Amino acid sequence: MQLLTWLITMLVKKTLKFKLEETKYGKFECLDKLYTQANNLMQKIWYIIKYSKVFSKTKIQNWFYDYWKSIYDLPSQVIINCIDKVIEMFKASYEQRHLPSKPENIPIRLIRKRSYNIHEDGTVTIYGCGTYKLIGNPEHIKLAYLHGRGAELIKRDKGYYLHVTIEKNVNLNYIPRYKIGLDFGKHEIMLSILNERNELVWWRSIDFSKWIKIRKHYREVRRHKQRKCKRFRKESQEVRRFIEEVTKVIVDIAKDYQQFGVIVRVEDLKKLRKRMLKLFKKDPELRYLVSTMPYRLFYKRLEEKLTWEGIKFEQVNPKYTSRVCHRCGNFGIRNGKVFKCPYCRLEIDADLNAAINIAKGGYDYLKQLPALKGEASPKI
Ligand SMILES: [Zn+2]
Repeated sequence: MQLLTWLITMLVKKTLKFKLEETKYGKFECLDKLYTQANNLMQKIWYIIKYSKVFSKTKIQNWFYDYWKSIYDLPSQVIINCIDKVIEMFKASYEQRHLPSKPENIPIRLIRKRSYNIHEDGTVTIYGCGTYKLIGNPEHIKLAYLHGRGAELIKRDKGYYLHVTIEKNVNLNYIPRYKIGLDFGKHEIMLSILNERNELVWWRSIDFSKWIKIRKHYREVRRHKQRKCKRFRKESQEVRRFIEEVTKVIVDIAKDYQQFGVIVRVEDLKKLRKRMLKLFKKDPELRYLVSTMPYRLFYKRLEEKLTWEGIKFEQVNPKYTSRVCHRCGNFGIRNGKVFKCPYCRLEIDADLNAAINIAKGGYDYLKQLPALKGEASPKI
């Protein structure tokens, strides 16, 4: 039975980031102590491995654990994790044939219920160091409480951060009945939803122009001020935030149809980039901006979010999707934003027509149609 469950489910992981805040029961001085002690210990382990060339966790543990336990005020699990971490550092750098640098400001690995615990009220207890408040998205705090396993304590700019890894099993082995298709246009994404009979249930256009505005704005800023670094970092942060916004809209729509078994289909990444460059052919400035659009990041975030919710994601071949009429399957004519079919007299938004064809499965679906097989098409 266990094997069967394993076959149809997939383990997905995700890292959530929180800032820590002091409370009555936990002060940063205490974390400072833990952090410096653990980093000192890691440096010690680093010397031991460097000179003894012993990479066995059990050996090091047998030799030194009791001694370290008596001189350091650290939870047992933290000591064990420090040994693990340094051994990993050596193993990773040995493949590149050099010694790892001396550990400094290394995050501390924590394991739930052994070295820390998250509570329902959004606080975290780090064993031996008191209780702190988690600052972050309330939904993420709830997820960390429900699914949190391991975590890393990170010190940056005098503040403390907790990166919690959450995992859960999702079932991606279902037959999708509803299909969502996305078609990227110049300034918007067209989203179509089809039911099991391939009928259009709902559609929506999602504004995507803000991205170009961000790029244009920072381009001007860079022109005026010749300083690059800081501005550039802020720009990529803004692009990232925008990608998070748009993918959230798409995932929320997909979740509404999840009960029917839904799949999200997009066009192949390489083809998308090529097509976008073609779309902006007449505008060299925009063409440059579009060539740097992080579509890969967009797809990656979309796939991660959908998989986490247990929704299938698929890239399809977009060949002919913008040229074939979704209703009768014959070739139509595109005139600006309007798609006209000379056979069934359909007039529809061209992007919507393409989004419907992508939802159906792209070229893999269209190639079965008589018109594409080169068989007889109906007369006009
Ligand atoms: Zn038609």
